[in-house]
Amino acid sequence: PKERARKPDWLKREVPGGAKYTAIKAKLRELKLATVCEEARCPNIGECWGGADGHTATATIMLMGDTCTRGCRFCAVKTSRAPPPLDPDEPANTARAVAAWGIDYVVLTSVDRDDLPDGGSAHIAATIANLKRETDGRLLVEALVPDFSGDQACVDRVAASGLDVFAHNVETVPRLQRLVRDRRANWEQSLRVLRRAKERGVRVTKTSIMLGCGEAPDEVTAALRLLREAGVDVVTLGQYMRPTKRHMAVAEYVTPQAFQAYQDIAEGMGFLYVAAGPKVRSSYRAGEFYLTKHLQ
Ligand code: SF4
Ligand code: SF4
Repeated sequence: PKERARKPDWLKREVPGGAKYTAIKAKLRELKLATVCEEARCPNIGECWGGADGHTATATIMLMGDTCTRGCRFCAVKTSRAPPPLDPDEPANTARAVAAWGIDYVVLTSVDRDDLPDGGSAHIAATIANLKRETDGRLLVEALVPDFSGDQACVDRVAASGLDVFAHNVETVPRLQRLVRDRRANWEQSLRVLRRAKERGVRVTKTSIMLGCGEAPDEVTAALRLLREAGVDVVTLGQYMRPTKRHMAVAEYVTPQAFQAYQDIAEGMGFLYVAAGPKVRSSYRAGEFYLTKHLQ
């Protein structure tokens, strides 16, 4: 399908601002922390960082370098078969910097490291454990993790790290996975990862689907049902945005009304929390959900 030349009005960005946003930005420079929020030029940065209207300040950090062993067709991250080795100081340094930053909720995300025997799972688990220690458990930690090629020991390691939310994205509906995701990823494997994390006692599991890749509405509903059956607690649905011309084209800009319909369907299935909307990202206002639903 042809991509529409202009983005619809509902996707226009607002310029981020606010005192809290400015303070966070300055602190980030000082701590030399790289956020996905800035690198992806996420349209929600003002809202997430600013903790607007009494919401929790949330930000997303990327671990294990800027080079991925996979090449998903929607993703702007660089690819290499042999990325540079991990920085052994990253778990401790990231934890110190995030603790000093003073946010309430952090999302840790990472590239996929199929080159490492444990997929980087020990590195991720160590970062989480350090974050919890540095903040006396106050900071809420969500980790958005790879599928670890289905290796359950890796899933178990992260599940036992003390994290609050275990997230792994299926990205699209089953029929479109070959078109959208790297060949090493697949729906069955991703479902097994999410199911396993829940079995290992993780309080909240979460996944995300990008719409506008050519999926039909009944395929979205069927995918949501499969996720719910795998015990997934939280689902987010957002619009796919093409990062550059070399990436997969947008098949469709899904309307806010259609997103609302999916929101209602998913809520009807009994998900604990659903965020659906054109600008929703998997980490969108992540803290808001957790705090309001679980910690009051
Ligand atoms: Fe950052 Fe995610 Fe919020 Fe975007 S939606 S600003 S990436 S935390
Ligand atoms: Fe991007 Fe993740 Fe795919 Fe790597 S595995 S290319 S970081 S979406």
